Amino acid sequence: MPFGNRGVLIFPEQKKIVHDLIIIGAGPAGLTAGLYAARSRLDVILFERLSPGGQILTTDWVENYPGFPEGISGFDLVDRMKRQAENFGLVIEGREVSGLELSPERKAVVTDKGTIQTKAIILACGASPQKLGVEGEDLLTGKGVSYCATCDGPFYRDQAVAVVGGGDTAVEEAIFLTRFASKVYLIHRRDQLRATQLLRDRAMAQEKIEIIWDTVVERISGEDGVKGLELRHVKTGERLDLPVEGAFIFVGYQPNNDLGKGVLELDELGFVITNNDMETSVPGVFAAGDIRSKLLRQVSTAVGEAATAAFAAERYIEGLAASV
Ligand code: NAP
Repeated sequence: MPFGNRGVLIFPEQKKIVHDLIIIGAGPAGLTAGLYAARSRLDVILFERLSPGGQILTTDWVENYPGFPEGISGFDLVDRMKRQAENFGLVIEGREVSGLELSPERKAVVTDKGTIQTKAIILACGASPQKLGVEGEDLLTGKGVSYCATCDGPFYRDQAVAVVGGGDTAVEEAIFLTRFASKVYLIHRRDQLRATQLLRDRAMAQEKIEIIWDTVVERISGEDGVKGLELRHVKTGERLDLPVEGAFIFVGYQPNNDLGKGVLELDELGFVITNNDMETSVPGVFAAGDIRSKLLRQVSTAVGEAATAAFAAERYIEGLAASV
């Protein structure tokens, strides 16, 4: 079969270019996969619907990514990853991917600017904040209900805010919000935080943080802005109206798995199942980062998986060439 420049396969009858690899998503996983693939001289494109960065952009300070003893801002970390990948020739294009065409003979990625053929795909689409699912949440999103403390925290200088959730994100963001807010209520549905001990200790030591245990939010009240939260104690059934001006929801994440639904094997929560080599249930389609079914979602786990995915994709592509 004829090859164009840089190993790009061209079918003369169709005049269509088939790229080696398309990566979807430009968070730490996608950028790392892009770095490895571009450095291996694959013909690779990365599609990202927004600007590169992913969820890490909503993190003010990352202090558990190795190599940065003083920590680094989420923005700086991802900017460095992007520049490093681009230095090796990674092309990042702003495109929304709406579908995958995955037949044994042909793989293609359907985008808002056309359908692009490829030999292999790495899904690094990440995850999005889980909604609480209570009355008032949708109405007041952007008007006091937020899923990003780094983005919206500074609006709440000297005001009272609530954080909902008990995991690492909720506790970390509650601590961050003490920089601005006069009071931070941390509302958790159980009597023990899920967050790691270090973060728990820090939260307990923060005078501005008050933890409201065993309590769920039933309604977020307000019309043009958040006025308060209607709370219910899960053990006593007691109800409380808590006046706050901001409600930050951190109750976990859901995978951005629309492309994989009905096509790839997913776990019961919708995360993409892979083997140790990041291969999904469809040969030639790999996944890395927060979209994967796994124990720990961190930048450090995402980048390791992405390196493996890029290497495995390269081997898969070599296998295709050998079988032609
Ligand atoms: P998470 O660990 O899944 O925690 C979600 C929290 O929300 C849990 O406390 C959960 O309560 C609560 N929750 C879930 N649904 C709820 C509902 N409907 N109503 C009320 N509360 C609800 O999510 P995460 O904190 O976003 O963390 C995600 C991953 O990122 C984790 O692996 C975490 O370790 C990692 N992470 C790490 C760092 C760091 O290392 N610095 C920072 C952020 C995130 P229960 O506890 O009762 O289940």
